[in-house]
Amino acid sequence: MNKLFINGEWVDALDGKTMELVNPATEEVIATLPYADAADCHAAIDIAHRAFPEWSGTTPYIRAAILKKAADHMRDHLAELAKDMVRESGKPLAEAKGEWMVAAGLFEWFAEEAKRAYGRVIPTSRKDKRSTVIYQPMGVIGVITAWNFPAYNPARAWAAALAAGCTVVAKPAESTPLSAFHMVNALVAAGLPKGVLNLLIGDAAAIGDAMLDNPVLRKISFTGSTRVGKILMDGASRTHTKLSLELGGNAPVLIFGDVDVDAIAQSAAVARFRNNGQVCVAPQRFYVEQSIYHEFAEKLTRYVRALKIGEGFEEGVNIGPLITRRQRDSVLDLLEKAREQQATVLTGGGRPAGREKGFFIEPAVVTGLDQSSVLATNEIFGPVLPLFTFDGLDDAIAKANDTPYGLAAYVFTNNLQTAIHAAERLEFGIVGINEWAPHGTEAPFGGWKSSGQGHEGGSEGLYEYLEKKLISIGGL
Ligand code: ADP
Repeated sequence: MNKLFINGEWVDALDGKTMELVNPATEEVIATLPYADAADCHAAIDIAHRAFPEWSGTTPYIRAAILKKAADHMRDHLAELAKDMVRESGKPLAEAKGEWMVAAGLFEWFAEEAKRAYGRVIPTSRKDKRSTVIYQPMGVIGVITAWNFPAYNPARAWAAALAAGCTVVAKPAESTPLSAFHMVNALVAAGLPKGVLNLLIGDAAAIGDAMLDNPVLRKISFTGSTRVGKILMDGASRTHTKLSLELGGNAPVLIFGDVDVDAIAQSAAVARFRNNGQVCVAPQRFYVEQSIYHEFAEKLTRYVRALKIGEGFEEGVNIGPLITRRQRDSVLDLLEKAREQQATVLTGGGRPAGREKGFFIEPAVVTGLDQSSVLATNEIFGPVLPLFTFDGLDDAIAKANDTPYGLAAYVFTNNLQTAIHAAERLEFGIVGINEWAPHGTEAPFGGWKSSGQGHEGGSEGLYEYLEKKLISIGGL
């Protein structure tokens, strides 16, 4: 384990290069791992291409049996898997355990859903003709995923692609490969035939380019930044690579004056800082109606001050380190710019005293902001909660939609009219009404505008890896 996985074997990079994996809470090197490049990627694609006819020719029932066994393996080894996720990502142990349970659930759900990839029989306009639509697995899929959810991100795409009958070349983020190794291991233990799933870590740009260059790789499923998503879109014309893109977000939260202020402030302090704010659907721009703004800010600040920072293994920890020094510095930089724009930091925002090592930032609440603030225009991806205000529904919607992103939005109100009008007017792929977790394995997850294209999860997630074919029979 802890190497590249190609054609059913754990191997080194062809040129022998390696990289070091760092624990973001301690800054210690925890593993030395192979560092692949384009040549390894082409080799993996070739293997996946050769494995495709047999895997795509199995019934969904055979595939489901393997995927469900892999899900059980993940649940049975939960403690070990979660521990490695904490070591590589720094997230609290309870969050790591929860994430692995969701990842296992994704394998089980797609295992079942592939059995229902129904086609259609279409009534035709001619008596002598019959039209049928069937769905067939697409081919070799490249899956490139981000570090914020080391198990959940790969699981969404791997489970759907494998269930659909595709073979996979996966490239998890270089900062969180341990969870991906465990996931491969679970699938192998469950009987996944060799060559069906191959795994690389290494030079991301070179591997991405090789995927785009290679005509047998039919699609890239990408979870990550809008910046890299654009690079992939630019390159996709070379060999007509299809793309599913799950990119950045900058989710607005509309909190109307009729809510239970204390309850929403308390739950906001948890929701905003889950995974340290490193979540594409993270509630980010908090728009609070003027009538309750000050009360909300004061109560929220109290709850945020009570959050506990520490290593993921410490008891009761809510907030771990950010993933890398670069990520921490980019969040500190945004906070500095916000201060220069006359923002007021109500709490947090610095590096915690007494922690020499680790990429920690104290959770921050910031006020005195308007739409031009860097905390409104950038995806923060860190533990910063910026507060804004609005006056009435029209103002709230205009401010919420004032972003190139369109992934998730949240609305809190006890007024049915407000809830329905807001939900319908928000330009986002996911709208949560009176809840902080509007997504689920069984539901489509995808963004509008610069937040991406295509969907993960739900039956939509399966169809991302199936080609539609019309079979038309004439002369009858
Ligand atoms: P970063 O982590 O560098 O800020 P992302 O969050 O977008 O960038 O990373 C998401 C995934 O995209 C990771 O697996 C990363 O290695 C990969 N990646 C980064 N740059 C490229 C690129 N030029 N082409 C393909 N994948 C890339």
